Amino acid sequence: MAPRECLKAEVLGLPVHLTPHLLSAAEALVRSGGHVVTLNAEMTMAARNHAPLRRVIQRAELVIPDGAGVVWALRLQGHRLRRQPGIDLAEMLLDHAAARGWRVAWVGARDDRLQAAARFWKRRHPQLRLQRLIHGYQPPDHWPMVEADLRRQQPELVFVGLGAPRQELWIDKARPLGHGLWLGVGGSFDVWSGSVRRAPTLMQALQLEWFYRLLQEPGRWPRILQLPVFSGHVLMEWAAARFSGSRRKPARQRPAAGRTGESAAECPPVERRADKPPEVGPG
Ligand code: UDP
Repeated sequence: MAPRECLKAEVLGLPVHLTPHLLSAAEALVRSGGHVVTLNAEMTMAARNHAPLRRVIQRAELVIPDGAGVVWALRLQGHRLRRQPGIDLAEMLLDHAAARGWRVAWVGARDDRLQAAARFWKRRHPQLRLQRLIHGYQPPDHWPMVEADLRRQQPELVFVGLGAPRQELWIDKARPLGHGLWLGVGGSFDVWSGSVRRAPTLMQALQLEWFYRLLQEPGRWPRILQLPVFSGHVLMEWAAARFSGSRRKPARQRPAAGRTGESAAECPPVERRADKPPEVGPG
């Protein structure tokens, strides 16, 4: 079977690509160029009220289910899947970048944390080509220079950690078409710097990473209030679909996109199967 299984689902009108071959799909985008969005409930709600963000997510080449709320909404539609946290994808891509000599640029976070994150990755992969480290607190008139520099350099990987939705809007504006994978990584540089800790594995497995973050950063609680609103919208949409008889069939009963000729714009190309069984993906 060709490794092209990918299904494009929707959560509150936003696309989500469901692929068990996430790393392969992302690798293909390194060559063809693409924006990877890591979708969670907060971003979904922000996009409902912000048309430019909605359009950016709709035209991104790959949108992955990063948040527990998005995974829950998709399961309600009958899809079988697991979370695909953006930070896990970012780490897999950096491992590959080191092995393949890809040039990497990082944009975002406080300078001291960005440098500490770079030291962490250099210890892990001394050969990693971290070509640009651009902190996220530039004066406004510096950003056009940053954009021009990245368009000129054309690194294979550009990670942007400016927080959502700013990072998504900026990626859409800054990236050149046709080259390099641009990924919004949120607070990943803070994690790699050792300043912020990820939830223990058990909490991740219980879909409680957001709660662990809230304990570390209580200032995030107003953002968490979006979660019940998101759940309400999802349930209303689910009930409307169910009672109008148009509820989606479970993913496993639907043909895979690659076999029905869905366009590459709908499902990113997958050039080869990952070397090992998928770390993330439909469960
Ligand atoms: N940040 C930045 N410049 C800014 C505001 C924020 O570089 O003007 C960084 C911040 O230092 C942090 C990241 O953006 O590293 C946001 O992290 P957060 O975990 O809040 O991301 P989100 O959950 O919004 O994706």
